[in-house]
Amino acid sequence: MLQEFSYQAPTTLKDLYSLLKKRAGKAVILAGGTDLMVEMHNNWIAPEMLVDIKKIRELGEIKFSRKEGLSIGATVVCTELIKDKNVQKYYPLLADAAHRIGSHQLRNRATIGGNLCTASPCADMGCSLLALGASVELGSADGVRIVALKDYFTGPKKTQIQKHEVLQRIIVPIDMANAEWGMRKLKRIKGHDLALISVAMARTAGVMRVGIGSCAPTPVVTVDLPASASLDKVKEATFKAVSPIDDVRASKEYRLFMTGEYVESVYAELTRGRSRK
Ligand SMILES: Cc1cc2nc3c(=O)[nH]c(=O)nc-3n(C[C@H](O)[C@H](O)[C@H](O)COP(=O)(O)OP(=O)(O)OC[C@H]3O[C@@H](n4cnc5c(N)ncnc54)[C@H](O)[C@@H]3O)c2cc1C
Repeated sequence: MLQEFSYQAPTTLKDLYSLLKKRAGKAVILAGGTDLMVEMHNNWIAPEMLVDIKKIRELGEIKFSRKEGLSIGATVVCTELIKDKNVQKYYPLLADAAHRIGSHQLRNRATIGGNLCTASPCADMGCSLLALGASVELGSADGVRIVALKDYFTGPKKTQIQKHEVLQRIIVPIDMANAEWGMRKLKRIKGHDLALISVAMARTAGVMRVGIGSCAPTPVVTVDLPASASLDKVKEATFKAVSPIDDVRASKEYRLFMTGEYVESVYAELTRGRSRK
């Protein structure tokens, strides 16, 4: 049974900041609720107040500019990202990753910000955004700060966000627009399921990165590799980035083996020029 809680739905960032400041540690942000409601139903958490952020207009916007690149508001849901023309044209890896999340119904509800704030090691948006060198903008009454996504995840379900802060938007740099890309997600079943491992690769003329999910306490990314890096170098960097464990979904050995297989297969796709740009 759910514990009693109060509900607020501010319509401006200023009101949100002030609520989070006054009720830091007692108030919890509600976006799509697909993770939060499960936690509340199971009594893993019992917040005194839910602060619904979906009525704040700017948090729901997707913008593209040739100077900054792509800006994805925290409450943009997977379906909106998949359908966005600029995402499809310049950053199709993100549309592909969002499409791999849950079911149609879930994708209509689950936000991109929520996916990064839950910070599950298998978050599908995590490894794809890492491969694209994304950053997140965190806001509060104290101001706004930008954190590189590679530094943002600090442990399973842990991030750099402080209790009085909100993740406002995700920024994907312009130099990753039109990157060659490929993604693989290994699941136990053919239907919707969380990843046993996932691999997302992005390559431009200047850089190549591999983002990996479910293979470490957080989604992780390789160091920036030169675009011309050999398969051996890419695999070496990938194995350096991961630290898989045995769990109910797969053994450590299987995860390592399949990570190598997926890196090889995406690399071959990019080499053959068959990446969907
Ligand atoms: C059936 C099912 C299948 C799923 N399948 C997948 C899958 O295949 N792949 C995958 O990656 N995930 C999957 N998920 C997980 C989930 O749907 C995603 O993590 C989702 O994107 C979370 O977004 P939300 O808007 O629902 O977040 P919420 O549940 O509203 O919030 C999640 C957490 O983040 C906090 N939060 C949310 N937004 C912000 C913000 N802007 N700033 C600060 N804190 C914030 C909340 O307080 C809460 O702690 C699945 C979940 C279910 C129930």
